[in-house]
Amino acid sequence: MRVILPNPRGFCAGVQMAVDVVEGVVAMFPDSQVYVYHEIVHNRHVVDRFRERNVTFVERIKDIPRGSVVVFSAHGIPPSVREEAKERGLPANDATCPLDTKVHSAPTRISRLGYEILLVGHADHQEIIGTRGEAPDATSVVETAEQVDSLQVRDENKLTYLTQTTLSTDDAAVIVNALRNRFPNLHEPSSSTICYATTNRQHAVRQIAPEVDVTLVVGSRNSSNSVRLTEIAAAAGSPGYLIDDASEIDHSWFPRGGDSSVLVTAGASAPEDLVAGVCKSLLNRYGGQLEQWDVMDENVEFRLPGSLRRIILDRGGDAPSNSVVIGPPSIDEQSYGAVPLTVSARSEPPKAI
Ligand code: SF4
Repeated sequence: MRVILPNPRGFCAGVQMAVDVVEGVVAMFPDSQVYVYHEIVHNRHVVDRFRERNVTFVERIKDIPRGSVVVFSAHGIPPSVREEAKERGLPANDATCPLDTKVHSAPTRISRLGYEILLVGHADHQEIIGTRGEAPDATSVVETAEQVDSLQVRDENKLTYLTQTTLSTDDAAVIVNALRNRFPNLHEPSSSTICYATTNRQHAVRQIAPEVDVTLVVGSRNSSNSVRLTEIAAAAGSPGYLIDDASEIDHSWFPRGGDSSVLVTAGASAPEDLVAGVCKSLLNRYGGQLEQWDVMDENVEFRLPGSLRRIILDRGGDAPSNSVVIGPPSIDEQSYGAVPLTVSARSEPPKAI
Protein backbone atom coordinates (compact mmCIF):
# COMPACT_ATOMS: atom_id res chain seq x y z
CA MET A 1 0.00 0.00 0.00
CA ARG A 2 1.08 3.59 -0.69
CA VAL A 3 0.16 5.75 2.30
CA ILE A 4 0.41 9.46 1.47
CA LEU A 5 0.54 12.22 4.09
CA PRO A 6 0.00 15.80 2.88
CA ASN A 7 1.68 18.86 4.37
CA PRO A 8 -0.11 20.77 5.76
CA ARG A 9 -2.56 18.61 7.73
CA GLY A 10 -3.95 18.46 11.26
CA PHE A 11 -3.55 20.97 14.09
CA CYS A 12 -3.67 24.65 13.11
CA ALA A 13 -2.13 27.43 15.23
CA GLY A 14 -5.57 28.37 16.65
CA VAL A 15 -6.29 24.84 17.89
CA GLN A 16 -2.78 24.46 19.31
CA MET A 17 -3.20 27.77 21.14
CA ALA A 18 -6.59 26.71 22.60
CA VAL A 19 -5.13 23.39 23.79
CA ASP A 20 -2.14 25.27 25.28
CA VAL A 21 -4.52 27.59 27.17
CA VAL A 22 -6.32 24.65 28.84
CA GLU A 23 -2.95 23.00 29.57
CA GLY A 24 -1.72 26.27 31.09
CA VAL A 25 -4.82 26.79 33.23
CA VAL A 26 -4.73 23.19 34.49
CA ALA A 27 -1.06 23.66 35.41
CA MET A 28 -1.69 27.04 37.13
CA PHE A 29 -4.69 25.82 39.16
CA PRO A 30 -3.76 22.26 40.19
CA ASP A 31 -6.20 22.28 43.12
CA SER A 32 -9.18 23.82 41.30
CA GLN A 33 -11.85 22.33 39.11
CA VAL A 34 -11.31 23.77 35.62
CA TYR A 35 -14.41 24.30 33.45
CA VAL A 36 -14.45 24.79 29.68
CA TYR A 37 -17.48 26.40 28.07
CA HIS A 38 -18.29 24.18 25.05
CA GLU A 39 -15.79 21.64 23.70
CA ILE A 40 -12.41 23.38 23.61
CA VAL A 41 -12.00 22.17 20.00
CA HIS A 42 -14.22 19.84 18.00
CA ASN A 43 -12.29 16.63 18.55
CA ARG A 44 -13.45 13.71 20.69
CA HIS A 45 -9.94 12.59 21.67
CA VAL A 46 -8.76 16.06 22.68
CA VAL A 47 -11.85 16.54 24.86
CA ASP A 48 -11.68 13.03 26.37
CA ARG A 49 -7.99 13.46 27.22
CA PHE A 50 -8.80 16.64 29.15
CA ARG A 51 -11.79 14.96 30.83
CA GLU A 52 -9.40 12.28 32.10
CA ARG A 53 -7.45 15.13 33.73
CA ASN A 54 -10.56 16.31 35.57
CA VAL A 55 -11.52 19.16 33.20
CA THR A 56 -15.31 19.62 32.97
CA PHE A 57 -16.99 20.73 29.73
CA VAL A 58 -20.33 22.55 30.00
CA GLU A 59 -22.85 23.99 27.55
CA ARG A 60 -24.42 26.43 30.05
CA ILE A 61 -22.64 29.05 32.14
CA LYS A 62 -25.14 28.47 34.96
CA ASP A 63 -23.70 24.96 35.38
CA ILE A 64 -20.35 26.44 36.50
CA PRO A 65 -20.11 27.09 40.26
CA ARG A 66 -19.37 30.71 41.19
CA GLY A 67 -15.68 31.51 41.53
CA SER A 68 -14.54 28.58 39.37
CA VAL A 69 -11.87 28.84 36.70
CA VAL A 70 -13.36 28.87 33.19
CA VAL A 71 -11.96 28.74 29.68
CA PHE A 72 -13.96 29.81 26.59
CA SER A 73 -13.49 27.48 23.63
CA ALA A 74 -11.56 28.18 20.41
CA HIS A 75 -14.76 29.00 18.48
CA GLY A 76 -15.68 32.13 20.44
CA ILE A 77 -18.83 33.11 22.30
CA PRO A 78 -21.58 35.70 21.95
CA PRO A 79 -21.41 38.79 24.23
CA SER A 80 -24.41 37.48 26.24
CA VAL A 81 -22.36 34.45 27.41
CA ARG A 82 -19.35 36.63 28.29
CA GLU A 83 -21.68 38.89 30.29
CA GLU A 84 -23.30 35.94 32.08
CA ALA A 85 -19.85 34.62 33.08
CA LYS A 86 -18.90 38.06 34.41
CA GLU A 87 -22.10 38.32 36.46
CA ARG A 88 -21.31 34.95 37.96
CA GLY A 89 -17.87 36.14 38.99
CA LEU A 90 -16.06 33.68 36.74
CA PRO A 91 -12.51 34.76 35.83
CA ALA A 92 -12.51 33.86 32.15
CA ASN A 93 -9.62 32.66 30.04
CA ASP A 94 -10.45 33.24 26.44
CA ALA A 95 -9.04 30.57 24.11
CA THR A 96 -10.84 32.00 21.08
CA CYS A 97 -8.71 31.71 17.95
CA PRO A 98 -7.59 35.21 16.86
CA LEU A 99 -9.05 34.55 13.41
CA ASP A 100 -12.44 33.72 14.95
CA THR A 101 -12.15 36.89 17.06
CA LYS A 102 -11.62 38.87 13.86
CA VAL A 103 -14.85 37.46 12.38
CA HIS A 104 -16.68 38.01 15.70
CA SER A 105 -15.70 41.66 15.89
CA ALA A 106 -16.84 42.45 12.33
CA PRO A 107 -20.67 42.54 12.77
CA THR A 108 -20.60 45.26 15.45
CA ARG A 109 -18.29 47.44 13.37
CA ILE A 110 -20.20 46.84 10.13
CA SER A 111 -23.66 47.33 11.64
CA ARG A 112 -22.55 50.68 13.12
CA LEU A 113 -21.94 51.82 9.53
CA GLY A 114 -25.57 50.99 8.78
CA TYR A 115 -24.90 47.77 6.89
CA GLU A 116 -26.78 44.50 7.19
CA ILE A 117 -24.65 41.31 7.26
CA LEU A 118 -25.33 38.05 5.47
CA LEU A 119 -23.37 35.46 7.44
CA VAL A 120 -22.56 32.42 5.29
CA GLY A 121 -22.18 29.32 7.46
CA HIS A 122 -23.88 26.65 9.57
CA ALA A 123 -26.46 28.19 11.90
CA ASP A 124 -25.82 25.69 14.70
CA HIS A 125 -22.00 26.05 14.71
CA GLN A 126 -20.52 27.80 17.77
CA GLU A 127 -18.63 30.28 15.64
CA ILE A 128 -21.79 31.36 13.81
CA ILE A 129 -23.81 31.52 17.04
CA GLY A 130 -21.09 33.71 18.56
CA THR A 131 -20.66 35.95 15.51
CA ARG A 132 -24.39 36.46 14.97
CA GLY A 133 -24.75 37.25 18.67
CA GLU A 134 -22.55 40.34 18.23
CA ALA A 135 -25.19 42.13 16.14
CA PRO A 136 -28.28 39.88 16.01
CA ASP A 137 -30.64 42.52 14.59
CA ALA A 138 -28.35 43.24 11.64
CA THR A 139 -27.22 39.67 10.83
CA SER A 140 -28.92 36.87 8.86
CA VAL A 141 -27.37 33.42 8.50
CA VAL A 142 -27.28 31.93 4.99
CA GLU A 143 -26.61 28.18 4.89
CA THR A 144 -27.31 27.34 1.25
CA ALA A 145 -27.49 28.98 -2.18
CA GLU A 146 -31.15 27.90 -2.34
CA GLN A 147 -32.00 30.20 0.58
CA VAL A 148 -30.69 33.27 -1.23
CA ASP A 149 -33.85 33.93 -3.29
CA SER A 150 -36.06 34.12 -0.22
CA LEU A 151 -33.81 36.44 1.83
CA GLN A 152 -35.54 39.58 3.12
CA VAL A 153 -33.20 42.56 3.50
CA ARG A 154 -33.75 46.14 4.62
CA ASP A 155 -31.71 47.91 1.93
CA GLU A 156 -30.00 46.12 -0.98
CA ASN A 157 -27.46 48.95 -1.19
CA LYS A 158 -26.32 48.54 2.42
CA LEU A 159 -25.49 44.88 2.44
CA THR A 160 -22.31 42.85 2.95
CA TYR A 161 -21.35 39.28 3.79
CA LEU A 162 -18.98 37.28 6.01
CA THR A 163 -18.12 33.58 5.90
CA GLN A 164 -17.53 30.98 8.62
CA THR A 165 -13.79 30.33 8.90
CA THR A 166 -14.07 26.58 8.27
CA LEU A 167 -16.29 26.37 5.17
CA SER A 168 -15.35 24.60 1.97
CA THR A 169 -14.02 27.35 -0.28
CA ASP A 170 -15.94 25.76 -3.21
CA ASP A 171 -19.28 25.66 -1.35
CA ALA A 172 -18.81 29.18 -0.02
CA ALA A 173 -18.06 30.45 -3.53
CA VAL A 174 -21.38 29.02 -4.79
CA ILE A 175 -23.34 30.80 -2.03
CA VAL A 176 -21.43 34.07 -2.36
CA ASN A 177 -21.95 34.06 -6.14
CA ALA A 178 -25.69 33.53 -5.57
CA LEU A 179 -25.64 36.55 -3.23
CA ARG A 180 -23.75 38.63 -5.80
CA ASN A 181 -26.30 37.69 -8.49
CA ARG A 182 -29.29 38.54 -6.32
CA PHE A 183 -27.76 41.72 -4.84
CA PRO A 184 -25.59 43.42 -7.50
CA ASN A 185 -24.58 46.18 -5.04
CA LEU A 186 -23.41 43.70 -2.40
CA HIS A 187 -20.42 45.21 -0.59
CA GLU A 188 -17.34 42.94 -0.73
CA PRO A 189 -15.39 42.41 2.53
CA SER A 190 -11.75 43.50 2.41
CA SER A 191 -10.56 39.88 2.62
CA SER A 192 -11.96 36.36 2.80
CA THR A 193 -12.81 35.16 6.30
CA ILE A 194 -12.29 31.47 5.47
CA CYS A 195 -9.09 30.93 7.44
CA TYR A 196 -5.64 30.02 6.16
CA ALA A 197 -5.69 26.56 7.81
CA THR A 198 -9.00 25.56 6.25
CA THR A 199 -7.95 26.84 2.83
CA ASN A 200 -4.54 25.14 2.93
CA ARG A 201 -5.79 21.71 4.09
CA GLN A 202 -8.50 21.77 1.44
CA HIS A 203 -5.99 22.78 -1.22
CA ALA A 204 -3.71 19.84 -0.33
CA VAL A 205 -6.62 17.38 -0.55
CA ARG A 206 -7.82 18.81 -3.86
CA GLN A 207 -4.33 18.35 -5.25
CA ILE A 208 -3.64 14.80 -4.09
CA ALA A 209 -7.08 13.11 -3.91
CA PRO A 210 -7.35 12.61 -7.71
CA GLU A 211 -4.19 10.46 -7.57
CA VAL A 212 -5.29 8.03 -4.84
CA ASP A 213 -7.93 5.30 -4.41
CA VAL A 214 -9.22 6.44 -1.02
CA THR A 215 -8.88 9.45 1.29
CA LEU A 216 -9.04 9.02 5.06
CA VAL A 217 -9.66 12.18 7.10
CA VAL A 218 -8.81 11.93 10.79
CA GLY A 219 -11.30 14.08 12.69
CA SER A 220 -14.55 14.06 14.61
CA ARG A 221 -18.03 14.24 13.15
CA ASN A 222 -18.73 17.63 14.73
CA SER A 223 -15.59 19.13 13.17
CA SER A 224 -16.83 21.28 10.30
CA ASN A 225 -13.47 21.56 8.54
CA SER A 226 -12.89 17.77 8.79
CA VAL A 227 -16.26 16.96 7.22
CA ARG A 228 -15.51 19.46 4.43
CA LEU A 229 -12.24 17.60 3.67
CA THR A 230 -14.13 14.33 3.05
CA GLU A 231 -16.53 16.15 0.70
CA ILE A 232 -13.64 17.78 -1.17
CA ALA A 233 -11.88 14.42 -1.56
CA ALA A 234 -15.07 12.86 -2.98
CA ALA A 235 -15.56 15.79 -5.36
CA ALA A 236 -11.91 15.44 -6.47
CA GLY A 237 -12.35 11.76 -7.33
CA SER A 238 -11.51 9.54 -4.34
CA PRO A 239 -14.05 8.41 -1.73
CA GLY A 240 -13.40 10.26 1.53
CA TYR A 241 -14.01 8.67 4.94
CA LEU A 242 -14.01 10.48 8.27
CA ILE A 243 -12.50 8.51 11.17
CA ASP A 244 -11.76 9.46 14.75
CA ASP A 245 -8.81 7.05 14.91
CA ALA A 246 -7.37 3.81 13.48
CA SER A 247 -10.03 1.65 15.17
CA GLU A 248 -12.65 3.05 12.74
CA ILE A 249 -10.85 1.92 9.56
CA ASP A 250 -13.09 -0.35 7.47
CA HIS A 251 -10.86 -2.50 5.25
CA SER A 252 -13.59 -2.99 2.65
CA TRP A 253 -12.85 0.65 1.68
CA PHE A 254 -9.64 -0.46 -0.08
CA PRO A 255 -10.82 -2.23 -3.24
CA ARG A 256 -7.33 -3.31 -4.26
CA GLY A 257 -6.22 -4.28 -0.76
CA GLY A 258 -2.47 -3.83 -0.42
CA ASP A 259 -2.21 -2.39 -3.96
CA SER A 260 -4.28 0.64 -2.97
CA SER A 261 -3.01 4.19 -2.54
CA VAL A 262 -4.44 6.04 0.45
CA LEU A 263 -4.27 9.72 1.34
CA VAL A 264 -4.30 10.19 5.13
CA THR A 265 -5.02 13.75 6.20
CA ALA A 266 -6.52 15.36 9.31
CA GLY A 267 -8.83 18.22 10.21
CA ALA A 268 -7.45 21.24 12.05
CA SER A 269 -8.49 19.86 15.46
CA ALA A 270 -7.12 16.30 15.11
CA PRO A 271 -3.90 15.46 17.03
CA GLU A 272 -1.01 14.11 14.98
CA ASP A 273 -0.57 10.97 17.12
CA LEU A 274 -3.94 9.76 15.76
CA VAL A 275 -2.70 10.31 12.20
CA ALA A 276 0.42 8.32 13.07
CA GLY A 277 -1.75 5.51 14.45
CA VAL A 278 -3.72 5.30 11.19
CA CYS A 279 -0.54 5.13 9.08
CA LYS A 280 0.97 2.47 11.32
CA SER A 281 -2.20 0.39 11.27
CA LEU A 282 -2.34 0.43 7.45
CA LEU A 283 1.37 -0.32 7.00
CA ASN A 284 1.33 -3.10 9.60
CA ARG A 285 -1.52 -4.82 7.80
CA TYR A 286 -0.63 -4.20 4.15
CA GLY A 287 3.09 -3.32 4.11
CA GLY A 288 4.20 -0.76 1.52
CA GLN A 289 5.58 2.75 1.73
CA LEU A 290 4.89 6.01 3.47
CA GLU A 291 5.16 9.22 1.44
CA GLN A 292 4.95 12.78 2.70
CA TRP A 293 3.86 15.27 0.03
CA ASP A 294 4.81 18.89 0.76
CA VAL A 295 2.12 21.03 -0.86
CA MET A 296 2.68 24.32 0.94
CA ASP A 297 4.44 25.80 3.97
CA GLU A 298 2.59 27.21 6.95
CA ASN A 299 4.29 29.61 9.32
CA VAL A 300 1.39 31.31 11.12
CA GLU A 301 2.08 32.24 14.76
CA PHE A 302 -0.37 33.19 17.52
CA ARG A 303 0.57 34.54 20.93
CA LEU A 304 -0.94 33.01 24.06
CA PRO A 305 -3.90 35.15 25.27
CA GLY A 306 -3.12 38.01 27.67
CA SER A 307 -5.40 36.54 30.38
CA LEU A 308 -3.21 33.43 30.68
CA ARG A 309 0.03 35.41 30.54
CA ARG A 310 -1.26 37.60 33.41
CA ILE A 311 -2.18 34.56 35.53
CA ILE A 312 1.28 33.11 35.01
CA LEU A 313 2.92 36.42 35.97
CA ASP A 314 0.63 36.84 39.03
CA ARG A 315 1.68 33.42 40.22
CA GLY A 316 5.36 34.21 39.88
CA GLY A 317 5.93 32.31 36.66
CA ASP A 318 7.89 33.51 33.65
CA ALA A 319 5.74 35.43 31.20
CA PRO A 320 5.79 33.21 28.14
CA SER A 321 7.33 35.14 25.31
CA ASN A 322 6.73 32.21 23.03
CA SER A 323 4.26 32.22 20.18
CA VAL A 324 2.32 29.20 19.10
CA VAL A 325 3.90 27.96 15.88
CA ILE A 326 2.99 24.81 14.00
CA GLY A 327 5.61 23.17 11.83
CA PRO A 328 5.52 19.89 9.92
CA PRO A 329 5.48 16.99 12.41
CA SER A 330 8.59 14.83 12.57
CA ILE A 331 7.94 11.26 11.52
CA ASP A 332 9.59 8.18 12.97
CA GLU A 333 9.21 4.50 12.18
CA GLN A 334 8.01 3.53 15.63
CA SER A 335 5.00 5.88 15.61
CA TYR A 336 4.06 5.80 11.91
CA GLY A 337 5.19 2.33 10.86
CA ALA A 338 7.78 3.61 8.37
CA VAL A 339 10.15 6.47 7.59
CA PRO A 340 8.61 8.58 4.81
CA LEU A 341 9.82 9.37 1.36
CA THR A 342 9.38 13.13 0.93
CA VAL A 343 7.80 14.36 -2.29
CA SER A 344 7.62 18.02 -3.27
CA ALA A 345 4.12 18.71 -4.55
CA ARG A 346 4.13 22.49 -4.36
CA SER A 347 1.52 24.45 -6.28
CA GLU A 348 -0.07 27.87 -6.42
CA PRO A 349 -2.30 28.58 -3.42
CA PRO A 350 -6.01 28.92 -4.28
CA LYS A 351 -7.49 32.33 -5.04
CA ALA A 352 -9.78 33.90 -2.43
CA ILE A 353 -13.51 33.67 -3.16
FE1 SF4 B 1 -8.49 29.43 13.90
FE2 SF4 B 1 -8.82 28.51 11.42
FE3 SF4 B 1 -7.82 26.95 13.28
FE4 SF4 B 1 -10.42 27.63 13.37
S1 SF4 B 1 -9.42 26.37 11.79
S2 SF4 B 1 -8.99 27.58 15.07
S3 SF4 B 1 -10.28 29.74 12.57
S4 SF4 B 1 -6.86 28.83 12.47
